[in-house]
Amino acid sequence: MDTPVAGSGAAAAAVPDRLRITEIFLSLQGEARDAGWPTVFVRLTGCPLRCRYCDTAYAFHGGEWRDVDAILAEVAGHGVRHVCVTGGEPLAQKRCLGLLARLCDAGHIVSLETSGAIDIAEVDPRVSRVLDIKTPGSGEEARNLWSNIALLTPNDQVKFVICSRADYEWARGVVAERALDQRCDVLFSPSKSEVDARELADWIVADRLPVRFQMQLHKILWNDEPGR
Ligand code: SF4
Repeated sequence: MDTPVAGSGAAAAAVPDRLRITEIFLSLQGEARDAGWPTVFVRLTGCPLRCRYCDTAYAFHGGEWRDVDAILAEVAGHGVRHVCVTGGEPLAQKRCLGLLARLCDAGHIVSLETSGAIDIAEVDPRVSRVLDIKTPGSGEEARNLWSNIALLTPNDQVKFVICSRADYEWARGVVAERALDQRCDVLFSPSKSEVDARELADWIVADRLPVRFQMQLHKILWNDEPGR
């Protein structure tokens, strides 16, 4: 959450434009539409959810306050166009919205990875929003903010992490009932060690689902090492 800055005083104008950051690093985008592009990742600290399969629990706490100007300078220093703002849940810090707009103003191709539990209405439309829909297997299905679906455009993407055959059938139903494929790209990923990737691929092909199967490149290449 957007914790008040210690000693910031009453005047809003005096509040520094800062965000709590876990890490900023250069890697390959491992998933979604921009998979394979060299990308700078800006990982914001904190998340109000606790998905069973979460692989970024180290971003729940800690981090350090960074000025937005310093974040932009560090991103620019990496010298690539693609930037992914992720977490944790980046939108849990309100000032994330300003960071996204400034990254776009600076000419970056910006994506946002968000849990689907927080309103995306105010995100800059130049940003590609990669919105999770939490399946029952995540343990956080109740957090899905369904009003977000109506806000999706072809510039956005929705992602399901599939933990079981039951999750697959649930997700297949959501795609059909809400005509998600008519709005934007729909991505299905296997939850590592819970669903065999080939089995999930076979289910999608057998059902001719209008979704894209994806595996996380960074896990295949670097076995999910932090900072890669
Ligand atoms: S929303 Fe993302 S960061 Fe938060 S607990 Fe779930 S998987 Fe982890």
